[in-house]
Amino acid sequence: MESQQKKKTGKGSPSGKVWLAGAGPGDASLLTLKVKKWMDEADVIIYDALISAEILSLIPDGKEWIYVGKRSGHHCVRQEEINQILLREAKAGKNVLRLKGGDPFVFGRGAEEVECLAAEGIPFEIIPGVTSALAVPAYAGIPITHRDFASSFHVITGHAKEGKKIEIPYDALAKLNGTLIFLMGITAMEEICRGLIQAGMDENTPAAVLEKGTTARQRRLVSTLARLWEDAKTFQVQTPAIILVGKVCTLSEKFDWVKNLPLWGKQILTTRPRQNSSRLAGRLRELGAQVIELPSITTKPVWPNEVLGTILGSIREQESEQWLVFTSPIGVQTFWKQIRMLKMDVRNVFLPHVKVAAIGSGTAKELEQFGVFADVMPRTFCAAALGEAIAGEAAPKSRIVLLRAKQGSEELLPPLKNAGLKVEDVPLYETVCKLQETLKETIEKQQRQGEIDLVTFTSASTVRGFVQALPGIDTTKIRAVCIGEQTANEAKRYGMQIQISEEASVESMVLKILELAED
Ligand code: SAH
Repeated sequence: MESQQKKKTGKGSPSGKVWLAGAGPGDASLLTLKVKKWMDEADVIIYDALISAEILSLIPDGKEWIYVGKRSGHHCVRQEEINQILLREAKAGKNVLRLKGGDPFVFGRGAEEVECLAAEGIPFEIIPGVTSALAVPAYAGIPITHRDFASSFHVITGHAKEGKKIEIPYDALAKLNGTLIFLMGITAMEEICRGLIQAGMDENTPAAVLEKGTTARQRRLVSTLARLWEDAKTFQVQTPAIILVGKVCTLSEKFDWVKNLPLWGKQILTTRPRQNSSRLAGRLRELGAQVIELPSITTKPVWPNEVLGTILGSIREQESEQWLVFTSPIGVQTFWKQIRMLKMDVRNVFLPHVKVAAIGSGTAKELEQFGVFADVMPRTFCAAALGEAIAGEAAPKSRIVLLRAKQGSEELLPPLKNAGLKVEDVPLYETVCKLQETLKETIEKQQRQGEIDLVTFTSASTVRGFVQALPGIDTTKIRAVCIGEQTANEAKRYGMQIQISEEASVESMVLKILELAED
């Protein structure tokens, strides 16, 4: 691959390649397959302010991120500087994904970046994106063309080059009888509306402002050319937003389809460990929610694991009853991996005086994959119930080996200790949380602004992971949906407002979320 690229660039040193890509208007489901592929495969991702947290959260761990957008209180990185960063990264031999909002060639200065790459002989590809000019009206129920109302549409920038006045050909636009779509036009809204009226457009022409389109925070204001800018003041328009002018605006009420999605308008943060996150996120998206998948929460094995080696080594030597206790499927998987790495023969572990307990059906099923059928499984999926179930079955003075996460639930211990059992806690893995800096800032800011409606937790460790990854968050403001009592108790410790799903399953979580959305 490297030598191929060398050939293509025709230069002495192997260069990387740049994918100049559009990430769409905000809704992550509008990403193209090609952009998703390069989000997974690029070495470095250079992105700006319009890329939503929902989209950023889909970038896998281990990528380099370079933010070139506006930061609160700071100016944007200048275009010239962005061009230099692109060149520097590509020349270092990296595969660079340059991610821009909407489509890269619709007012995104994508052309300037390509010019610069072409001039330096850096190979590049363009990945078109879904532009806000088309998608934002669609999500507001507005077809930009319609046989009875508009047979053309025109996308216009309302932004002036630095230090200059905007130059909009109002006379020409007023004659077109098409739908007019202004991007970057909010500051100049009054000027634009007046300009069109002065050029002869009927002041009663329907006009709309569409804000934060395709995201959970999308809003629309439908008015007329004469009243739009005044109405927009009351509406308190925020950016990004587009201005739409034309008869098609009147259809928005009739075609308002997003309001029929049960979770539309909700932004939900999911915190399942990456390995199994997408099913819940996928279901929530189908129902209309915007989902940020907190990508930071992954499990890391405790290795080398001397404690495990010593304890397993002593199982054979002790004649009293011993219990191996598993509290998660990932614990079971890690256990098997580690005994293999320790070169421990299973015949020395699963002896006749060794019993096995599993916290719930998921863990029990995972054990069955390895040919082990649990002796004990509590009725309810929680640590306290597991402790009681074992205490009820175990012979006096049995040795209880807990094979679980570091900092596992405290609630497992009292029932075991009260029954006089000898407990040994063996951490097999830990939950690690390190969130990319801009994503962390974005999520914390959204949380402060009340834009995160719910957070889902599927284990106590995801609660801890969340708190660790986002230290700036006021946890008492979090509305948490938890998969069981144990998870809920952990969330309660941080003062979160909790809701618990009836059962320990994705479907049951979804039902609970639907129920909350109705309130
Ligand atoms: N290349 C982008 C446009 C970049 S210019 C595209 O194809 O969409 C930035 C302007 O796009 C903003 O000022 C706003 O007018 C518009 N915009 C981008 N995302 C938007 C969104 N989600 N909702 C409303 N307007 C949006």
